[in-house]
Amino acid sequence: MRILVVEDERRLASVLQKGLNEHGYATDIAHDGQSALALALTEPYDLLVLDVMLPGLDGITVCRELRNRGRTVPILMLTARDAVEDRVAGLDAGADDYLVKPFAFAELLARIRALFRRESAAKQPALRLGDRELEIDLLKREVRQRGQPVELTPREFAILEYLVRHANTVVTRTQLIDHVWGLAFMPGSNVIDVYIRSLRRKLGDELIQTVRGVGYRVRVPND
Ligand code: CA
Repeated sequence: MRILVVEDERRLASVLQKGLNEHGYATDIAHDGQSALALALTEPYDLLVLDVMLPGLDGITVCRELRNRGRTVPILMLTARDAVEDRVAGLDAGADDYLVKPFAFAELLARIRALFRRESAAKQPALRLGDRELEIDLLKREVRQRGQPVELTPREFAILEYLVRHANTVVTRTQLIDHVWGLAFMPGSNVIDVYIRSLRRKLGDELIQTVRGVGYRVRVPND
């Protein structure tokens, strides 16, 4: 899951980014409305955390502009304590939810999970591979392999989820970087190999195949 955090208070922005990364979300940051809009129109985000008070374009304008252009990405607005009119304007502009500053990080996480749940429950609550080979519960964020629970870190979960969503097709390293790390990925890093190795240790060597020079493919063994 990839999230764009739009927040001009740089300290808050980097605290949010660090926290979200630790919970397995890939995050990018924009510090003003103009670059937020440009990023949200070009990058495939799964959610926006959008501050209302921004230099240049404010958050409400960014939200309205995205909706006018047909973008349905879930938007969580951050508003000031007493600005009731901001909340109303944000929801009218097409935001899905709002959070009043200052907020506890745990509450932000809960709102994000709720928005993802609303999205994915409408679409697909679980991913399955083969008959019982692999089952990924997207609401509880649990994985079972042939009925047995498998403990994954948030980042491992994010990688596996992406691979299984694209089962039987080759996922390039670039796609994994875009959807699991975002722009924060360090070029030249071997972190993908490290995570794939760890996933293989937990799920067996056969599930995730390396397609040399291209990327990875998940396939039911002997299928
Ligand atoms: Ca602000």
